[in-house]
Amino acid sequence: MYAEIAIGLASRKTFTYKVPERLEGKARPGQRAIVPFSGRTKTGFIVGFSSGDGPFDYKEIADLPDASPLVPEGLLRLAGWISEYYMAPLGMVLAAAVAPGVEEDRPSRPRKAGGPASDARAEEGRPELVLSAPQEEALSAIAGAGGGFSPFLLHGATGSGKTEVYLRAIRPVVEAGKGAIVLAPEISLTPQLVRRFSARFGDRVAVLHSGLTPSQRRQQWRRIRHGDALVAVGARSAVFAPFMRVGMIVVDEEHDASYKQEEGVRYNARDAAVMRAKIEGCPVILGSATPSLESYHNALAGKYALLELPGRAAGRPMPEVRLIDLSEPVNQTTLQHPVDRLLTEPLIDAARKRLENGEQVLFFLNRRGYSDFIICRDCGEVPKCANCSVPMTFHRRGRELKCHWCGAASPAPSVCPKCGGDRIKYIGGGTEKLQRELVRFFPDFKTSRIDRDSIAPGGGFVKLLDDVASGETKIVVGTQMVSKGHDLPGIGLVGVTLADYSLNQPDFRAAERTFQVLTQVAGRSGRGEIPGEVIIQTYRPEHYSIECASRHDYKSFYDEEIILRKELNLPPFSRLALVAVRGVKQDKAHDGAAGVAEILKNGARGMGVDVMGPAPAPVFRVRGKYRYFIILRSKSHRKLHEVLEAGLRLVESKKAAPACKVDVDVDPRGMM
Ligand code: ADP
Ligand code: ZN
Repeated sequence: MYAEIAIGLASRKTFTYKVPERLEGKARPGQRAIVPFSGRTKTGFIVGFSSGDGPFDYKEIADLPDASPLVPEGLLRLAGWISEYYMAPLGMVLAAAVAPGVEEDRPSRPRKAGGPASDARAEEGRPELVLSAPQEEALSAIAGAGGGFSPFLLHGATGSGKTEVYLRAIRPVVEAGKGAIVLAPEISLTPQLVRRFSARFGDRVAVLHSGLTPSQRRQQWRRIRHGDALVAVGARSAVFAPFMRVGMIVVDEEHDASYKQEEGVRYNARDAAVMRAKIEGCPVILGSATPSLESYHNALAGKYALLELPGRAAGRPMPEVRLIDLSEPVNQTTLQHPVDRLLTEPLIDAARKRLENGEQVLFFLNRRGYSDFIICRDCGEVPKCANCSVPMTFHRRGRELKCHWCGAASPAPSVCPKCGGDRIKYIGGGTEKLQRELVRFFPDFKTSRIDRDSIAPGGGFVKLLDDVASGETKIVVGTQMVSKGHDLPGIGLVGVTLADYSLNQPDFRAAERTFQVLTQVAGRSGRGEIPGEVIIQTYRPEHYSIECASRHDYKSFYDEEIILRKELNLPPFSRLALVAVRGVKQDKAHDGAAGVAEILKNGARGMGVDVMGPAPAPVFRVRGKYRYFIILRSKSHRKLHEVLEAGLRLVESKKAAPACKVDVDVDPRGMM
């Protein structure tokens, strides 16, 4: 008997080992195996069995450490699909799926006091909400789907009551003793969501996210694996929750870019969730106020059942949105301080009214730091990162220049490093500068900033959020980090200081992303008793992304954007893959990319697959490596996959890209 074993290596092959007689009764797929591997021992997973035909004298498995398979069958099949679809080594996928250090050694402990009785207690005391008619309809459609695979797209405005639908849809699943998976982007930033699930399902909730310590993660993993927890709430890796039986999967904010892992195994957890539901034979609900073009297109094509929740729950109105055209000259003479176009008079006035009324105000700017870059007025020098071809961003705190691509930092110069001149100008502005300006305008109100800089380890992020929730903080300045999921009922006004940043990214999804982030951030206002208001400052108020967002009009946005995608043959009308060739030496990277592209183009002939490039990446050098991109496009994912598989095998065997690294990104999110 021979076993195929996936080992956590960069190789996409599995390795064949002989199963010794003493282990034959025990060897099953999903079981961990300890095997000799080039003079050392390694731990892998049994993923299948084979006849062992071949020219080799296969080595024997040394041991099977667990009494039963660590990886449930459904999860093993999902890992196999991810490995194949995203062209990633199965061993690496399994390593990402299984919490490191987890062992199958303990027998399942009897569940602590709890169970349905204590779950009911968690619900006690709160009057049961009466569902709205659309919520009822959505729920009965989901319940009516029965047990099998059935995908739903739940399209409902921010605050329309989607989470309430998830909670109710999951209840019968848990009562039947099956597992439910709930994915949410950036779960560590949205403790509220976890609290709502815990309030309903008590100690049957497990939470999985990257902020856990390894031992916490192991513990959660084990609780799920042994059926102590039946609801797994988490970020993208929760799609790997090791339930033996899955009865429901929810992907909240399904459009969110953070579902795509951009390093290591480049999978999209939203798509993997749909595949897991297919494997497990259960419903999957994709929910969003701003569905991705792909998902909405699938819904219109009848692949997903479309469920709509128009308007907000409990009859709350959608916030009023006002656009301010920054390209028009503004009379600034009436302002207290000269401003740098980050804040206009109407925005300041509206904020003052809200603050004086005891409300909170959220200012949104999707750029960290103090100024985008610094420039010498004498010689024009702009300090750039030594490792990446981007200017360094100035951060006032600590007076540092930081690279937002690789994290490199250096002290900010007070004179030009090139000509020694002292006329340094600070161009553009990020959240740090905006916060400083707001403190000058509103010195009597507590201001805090929420962005990636403020959630640094030990940065007290939870306290920051708590102070906002308690109303102590009156003014919040934040990047898109604040746009997600938070239910902050005291916010009466949201000010978007510059909507154009995301619109001008060199990326075909720029318009979609702009619409999404504006709609999401606008959705932070008016969630409580106070009717909300949103002010968006932009140089392009007529752009359809901005115009449709200002009217909360998803459908019109979709109708405009889908025409462009069709004309340009972009997703959802085609499938893309991005091949990145990187090298420390520019000429090696260039030649390697040319070699790879030639092989792919030859293989693509007559296949209905376009191969474009190579072209230098928009950010040419990152972390010391020059990057060239080759883009593959096809109507058929299968054809695209064939061309890639065959091409990359040839690249390897012909050593077509010496001294380069070649990476594949299937269904890339961005093209930067
Ligand atoms: P979403 O997930 O779409 O943003 P939520 O489910 O969080 O919406 O609902 C927004 C708010 O409205 C929450 O405070 C929720 O408790 C409340 N809510 C949801 N459904 C109802 C309902 N049927 N009646 C009254 N309030 C509701
Ligand atoms: Zn850098």
